Amino acid sequence: MISINGLVKNFGELEVIKGIDLNIEKGKIVVLIGPSGSGKTTFLRCLNVLETPTEGKIQIDENVLDFSRPVSKKSVAQFRSLTGMVFQSYNLFPHMTALGNVMEGPVTVKKIPKSEARKRAEDLLQKVGLADKIDFYPFQLSGGQQQRVGIARALAMEPKVMLFDEPTSALDPELVGEVLRVMENLAKEGMTMIVVTHEMRFAKDVADEVIFIDGGYIIERGHPDQIFNHPKEERTKQFLSVFE
Ligand code: ADP
Repeated sequence: MISINGLVKNFGELEVIKGIDLNIEKGKIVVLIGPSGSGKTTFLRCLNVLETPTEGKIQIDENVLDFSRPVSKKSVAQFRSLTGMVFQSYNLFPHMTALGNVMEGPVTVKKIPKSEARKRAEDLLQKVGLADKIDFYPFQLSGGQQQRVGIARALAMEPKVMLFDEPTSALDPELVGEVLRVMENLAKEGMTMIVVTHEMRFAKDVADEVIFIDGGYIIERGHPDQIFNHPKEERTKQFLSVFE
């Protein structure tokens, strides 16, 4: 379903992603792990074209962006709409309620009638356990609640794949679980997900595949059991030893 070929991203002289090839099947949960600065966030941001790849091809179903030639704004916007991004820092609109945040994309981008968008936003907020908070503003919500609004907001655009960039790392420890549970439920429903996280428990329990990235390359990939219990590469072993 998702196909990434020869992905390269440079920031000026700095080579951050050095050639990544990856195929992901529909409904799979892929967790990206790796040291800070290894390029995980940049990789994810390339997939929804918040960063423009320097080289390579990305494909979701029949939609392809080939960065060996100029890509139009329209094709980027279309491609981006296939992905839902959840950020570490929630990035909610502060002047809108939870409901307003979730309705905004469908109404302004997809031109869905307000009444329909509202119904769907209410359903999504219920799904993430916030039925009683729909009229609250972000400042009235805990970090975990804000992040769950962030997930509902991304889902409202009906993406084919959800991208999570360290969704729990800004949260107090006691709030991490509620966000991970929402993600686990999404996984159970068959959503295709790519998740950058340091939550190794989540990776072990939920991932179909774990990918270890270091220095802009995929060093090793495999089933969580293989990566966590029988890593082949020295660098993977070293990285994981910190979490033991
Ligand atoms: P990770 O998510 O694994 O911690 P990142 O993708 O955030 O890694 O960063 C990888 C490298 O790319 C780092 O050296 C970082 O400083 C650099 N980098 C990320 N974004 C930019 C940018 N917008 N401009 C310049 N350098 C960047």
